Amino acid sequence: MNVEGKAVLVLNAGSSSIKFELFEVVEGEPETRLDGQMEGIGASPHLFARDRRRVVLADQRWAGPDVADHVAALARIMEGIEPAIANRVIVGIGHRVVHGGTEFTAPVVVDASVARKLDALRDLAPLHQPHNLAGIEAARRRFPGVPQVACFDTAFHRSHAWEADTFALPPEFYGRGIRRYGFHGLSYEYIAASLAGEDPGRTVVAHLGNGSSLCAIRDGRSVDSTMGFTALDGVPMGTRCGQIDPGVLLHLMTSEGMSVEEVGQLLYQRSGLRGMSGISQDVRELEASGAPEAAAALRYYAYRVRREIGALAAAMGGIDTLVFTAGIGENARDLRARICEGLEFLGIRLDPARNAANGPEIAAEGATVRVLVRPTDEEGMIARHVIHLLQGRMDQPSSGPGREGGPA
Ligand code: ADP
Repeated sequence: MNVEGKAVLVLNAGSSSIKFELFEVVEGEPETRLDGQMEGIGASPHLFARDRRRVVLADQRWAGPDVADHVAALARIMEGIEPAIANRVIVGIGHRVVHGGTEFTAPVVVDASVARKLDALRDLAPLHQPHNLAGIEAARRRFPGVPQVACFDTAFHRSHAWEADTFALPPEFYGRGIRRYGFHGLSYEYIAASLAGEDPGRTVVAHLGNGSSLCAIRDGRSVDSTMGFTALDGVPMGTRCGQIDPGVLLHLMTSEGMSVEEVGQLLYQRSGLRGMSGISQDVRELEASGAPEAAAALRYYAYRVRREIGALAAAMGGIDTLVFTAGIGENARDLRARICEGLEFLGIRLDPARNAANGPEIAAEGATVRVLVRPTDEEGMIARHVIHLLQGRMDQPSSGPGREGGPA
């Protein structure tokens, strides 16, 4: 399909929000034209959109029942941005879908059979998957006949060796899909692509935002990641606990009588920076607070991220480049400095002035490991996938040989 000059819409649908970005295809690559979000769907809906020069295109509020679901939200979004896109033809819609299970190792056009398979994965990512799928359904109704492309946060990690993805359970569990999937793959794929011409060597990317994880990347492929079967594992996050001894869960449910729902709530919503501090999940608020609980939460966060950088370096036999990205990674200079404290043994040393300036290069002169601060662009990555799919240029599935080979 000739997509030059046409538009691609990218949607990231959450429980009560839809983030969107519209791209124009210029010489086969996506160029952003406008972005925004509808927040508070069903409660206090607020649409905000701006063009690439940050001129506000829409800033509108409604009563909850007027924008009750994702279908209504998408209709309002399209009304709001209509004047700005009047003469552009939308040829494809890309969706961020958190879980692709074992089957989806690359972006896919969603038809009824794919939709059923994605729906079957909803229990694996209850905070995201159902809402991602609601976004696809809303777009299918609003744009019948336009290809809906699902792009997965798990797909980039399908290149892992078996030992990086298995749990030490009897093998039938692995066969049933009980394995480490890894997430934030679109962010890691974008960063890997942006580093491709720079010979980054063995790279650890720290995607630190409300959701946080780290990924080891070699030769542009994911080697290992801190997130596992769900997006709960690894480092602590805004409200999620990160790694926890599974024995704690058994104890809470058997000895302390907590229900499955209560434990789920605890791990997903009442833990992490917010749970530990009792104040906020936002690093800016914790840094501004004088409370010892806020300081303790930040200290724990820095410690766990530092530990995982060491672990992922070990998984690759060393580290040549460390990249910080996402809200915390790109902005929280003090936290970056604390994370890197004590990693001199790996060759990681920061230049305080460069770090305070938020990069783009923040390693000290003469340090053996490059340390970078890079913005990520998950929406741009999705748009690129949509364009490639429509052009019939298949993106290389990232699955490597031997993944299914097990412990041979
Ligand atoms: P999400 O995972 O929701 O996409 P982001 O990547 O946008 O999250 O990260 C949001 C987080 O980034 C905020 O909760 C906050 O902790 C942190 N953050 C953003 N800006 C700053 C800043 N200037 N200083 C410190 N932390 C920041």
